[in-house]
Amino acid sequence: MAGVLVIGELNDDALQSITGELLAAGRRIADVTGENVGVALLNGGDAVGQETISLGADNAYLVQDEVLAEMQLDAQVAALEKVCSEVQPSVVLIGRTLAGRDVGPRLAFRLGVGLAQDCLQVEADANSGRVVAVRPVYGGNALAKVTFPDANPQMVVMRAKAYEPLDADDSRAGEVSIINPGLDSSVVKARLVETVSQAAEGVRLEDANIVVGGGRGLGGPEPFDQLEDLARLLGGAVGASRAVCDAGWLDHSYQVGLTGKTITPDLYITVGISGASQHMAGCSASKNIIAINRDADANIFKSASFGVVGDWKNVLPSFIETVRELVN
Ligand code: FAD
Repeated sequence: MAGVLVIGELNDDALQSITGELLAAGRRIADVTGENVGVALLNGGDAVGQETISLGADNAYLVQDEVLAEMQLDAQVAALEKVCSEVQPSVVLIGRTLAGRDVGPRLAFRLGVGLAQDCLQVEADANSGRVVAVRPVYGGNALAKVTFPDANPQMVVMRAKAYEPLDADDSRAGEVSIINPGLDSSVVKARLVETVSQAAEGVRLEDANIVVGGGRGLGGPEPFDQLEDLARLLGGAVGASRAVCDAGWLDHSYQVGLTGKTITPDLYITVGISGASQHMAGCSASKNIIAINRDADANIFKSASFGVVGDWKNVLPSFIETVRELVN
């Protein structure tokens, strides 16, 4: 019996950082409730199972079934439903990743329970042992505490970087076991026709410690070359507002916000972004925001630790040159 079940994520057999973060969150809950922490690893092998144990899992469930080969969503949800019925967790933790956003609501529906989306924090109440999750509401302007009165599992979708992974400890003991969910291929309703890999350089937007974001105030796609320069110098990634992506200046994979990606960098530099609530919903957990905007009343300045009121054309080139001198 696992008290907490983490839905692990792998990419080319490598454990994704979100899994370590969820295991750390799971351990905090389990240390209060006295239960175990398990992790489900779809198509996972023994090595990755051992890795999760070193990061805090008591049980690593390697979920193996040939129907999972193409990792179709239908198959993943069906497999996880089987794992939940076998393991009977009281809490399920899922990452707010592209995969997690798809899997979470579907799995909750199958299990007949509710789901707290986009959570920043999750704890167990010391008296009741029930989970209390904290999530932003009203575009990040308020925080709501979510509890699950009776039904299990209590399902929580966590933002990336909400918790630091524990230091890997190879001496930790745990059990690696295989679950074969015995899926029928008819569960897969969608067929994978083609996989297109997108060429991407540098750090992923969601993982970046420094993000340089551009908005409509840049006036077109060309100035994003300067943002790319700055991001490269700082070892960061470029992001954008929805106005930019809707205009086709950048692909939607760059979009930060309510309907885009959630970022949690140490530093977010925004250029020509007004700071609409829907944008802030995706970046309000940034530790520091530096804003460049020519409108002193722009909403972004309410969240910025440092701000420059001015035309980016006068500010950005010298800023980039100064950074270049400092890093070289
Ligand atoms: P604008 O609001 O047009 O701001 C441009 C800014 O640039 C202004 O503040 C201006 O003063 C400044 N500027 C102009 N010229 C210069 C210059 N030369 N130098 C310096 N500054 C200059 N938006 C998102 O970003 N992400 C989302 O996920 C998202 N989801 C949404 C979901 C819904 C349901 C809805 C209704 C909206 C959503 N939006 C989202 C859109 C959001 O409301 C804003 O329209 C959008 O964020 C505005 O983008 P912007 O700041 O780039 O543009």
